[in-house]
Amino acid sequence: METEKRINWGISRDLQADVRLEPNACKLYVMDISLGCPFQCIYCLFSPLELMVYKIKNPGYQGDVLPLKLDRFLERKEFPPVVYLSYASDPLGNSTLINNTIRVLEKLFSHHVHILLITKGIFTEELLKVIRIRPDLMEVQVGVTNSGDRRNNIIEPGAPSYKKRMENLKRLAAVKGLRSLVVRLDPLFPGIDDIEENIKRVIGDASDLGVNRAVMSYLVLTPGMRENLRANEFTRGAAEALVEKTPTISEQELYSYPFDEKIKKFIHFDEICQENGIKMSVCGCKEHRFKETRFGWTCFPFFTKEKREELSANSPFKLDTSHLKCHELNIEN
Ligand code: SF4
Repeated sequence: METEKRINWGISRDLQADVRLEPNACKLYVMDISLGCPFQCIYCLFSPLELMVYKIKNPGYQGDVLPLKLDRFLERKEFPPVVYLSYASDPLGNSTLINNTIRVLEKLFSHHVHILLITKGIFTEELLKVIRIRPDLMEVQVGVTNSGDRRNNIIEPGAPSYKKRMENLKRLAAVKGLRSLVVRLDPLFPGIDDIEENIKRVIGDASDLGVNRAVMSYLVLTPGMRENLRANEFTRGAAEALVEKTPTISEQELYSYPFDEKIKKFIHFDEICQENGIKMSVCGCKEHRFKETRFGWTCFPFFTKEKREELSANSPFKLDTSHLKCHELNIEN
């Protein structure tokens, strides 16, 4: 069937949470712990796509979040050198998913696999206990874009509050030997998140808790999603500011805030970060033109081209570096 050839059935084929290569996720090997995501962020590109693909084959499916099965993963003998948790879901979306993530980490640690974990969820004591086994393999990014409860309840309705996410940073900063800890302000909604007062608060609070890295990136949306956000009074202004077609790692038609405006904002946010002892990076996969600037543009700052090549050297899984071309102005990558 012609349509089926074009669709990536991925996890929806058999609901197995196994490792897979995902070109749109920084060309990394990824793993999802659930189909769908309890946090329901209104800007999410990938979780709704996975649900839609699953529904094509399962018309009766009502959209519930389904924990994926771990049996194929647990039988696996070979692993890529790095696994990214998670691409189309949050690995700490609820208590069942946290427990499954713990099992996944234990298995990956036993094979010395590096882990990039990006989350807005809660780091329970049980999870931290496991992380303390191999903190040197853990690159953790906690998503906290705005300190305002109203904004977070509208834009990330199922995710933990600002206070709880900041408590995560505090707990993680206390883990000795953690390879990296990053506060991730992503995606920034123009006019809502990218205001000085908000950036100063989030960066200042993170710095006080011992964080020294930040990653920032602007909202990127399909035309259809932009229309949906235009219909919402709170996000209308942000949606209307996404006027520029943006070159990203994906071949999709995606819109974002104009590049020149982003540059002006990031120059100022970089100053705020520096005042707080924080090193800022942006995301070159969501905006290729950053690769021509002085900003560090690898949003996983520790997985540079050189690091990927080093990790690939003795692995049957090669990490693609074709999108990480160094530019002479770029001191970071
Ligand atoms: S937490 Fe991540 S995966 Fe979940 S809905 Fe939000 S953006 Fe999507």
